[in-house]
Amino acid sequence: MSIQVKAAGLSDVGRLRQDNEDIFLLDEDLGLFAVADGMGGHAAGEVASRLAVEALREVWYEETDGEGRERRMLRGYALANDRIRQEVARNASRQGMGTTLVAILFHDSRALVANVGDSRAYLVREAAIRQVTTDHSWIREQVDQGRISTEEAVRHPFRNVITRALGTRAQVEVDLQEIPLQDGDRLLLCSDGLTGMLKDDKILEIIDGSEEVQAAAEGLVSAANQAGGEDNVTVLLLDCVRGED
Ligand code: CA
Repeated sequence: MSIQVKAAGLSDVGRLRQDNEDIFLLDEDLGLFAVADGMGGHAAGEVASRLAVEALREVWYEETDGEGRERRMLRGYALANDRIRQEVARNASRQGMGTTLVAILFHDSRALVANVGDSRAYLVREAAIRQVTTDHSWIREQVDQGRISTEEAVRHPFRNVITRALGTRAQVEVDLQEIPLQDGDRLLLCSDGLTGMLKDDKILEIIDGSEEVQAAAEGLVSAANQAGGEDNVTVLLLDCVRGED
């Protein structure tokens, strides 16, 4: 079985911020999709997130000699990391900039998922939603160790502190996993501007309530804004449909 992907992406500044430091990458030819959430302020965060998705995409357009997908994905993340660090070295005002990057490459009815930071990938299958990435955040560590409850975490002042990002260290550790896909699966990539405003069951309700990915993406962004829109919000929704082979 082959899987065809229908995609819709949307990025919104939200209700409180002046700038949008998020970006998404939607490349149907490659089957490559990503969301990056930049940090650093003063126009630096949006530079970091853009450099990251451009570097990742570039790697998948190179001619290579039988390089495996996982290796290539890791090389894309390493190049993104290097590009951001080079930009910081050239421009002192960009000191401290970095970005999250969550990415999916579709191949052979599978999804290769890569992640650094606290943007997320979710799988929606048979009326259930599951976060497939692990947040690299301080708050997640505290919740895992039982120091803070899930309820407290939602409003905790340090909920945005991330423990892994691109651009902040010379080497970056990337989480990788493969997900076998079924006809009808939907995958969501999003920044924390969505998940900080909406609980998972609300996200599921909106996704399951829309036939079309574009309408679902618009519904998610508008619900995040109605809930306060405290941060930039970016969603990339992917419908996995059985191919015609
Ligand atoms: Ca954010």
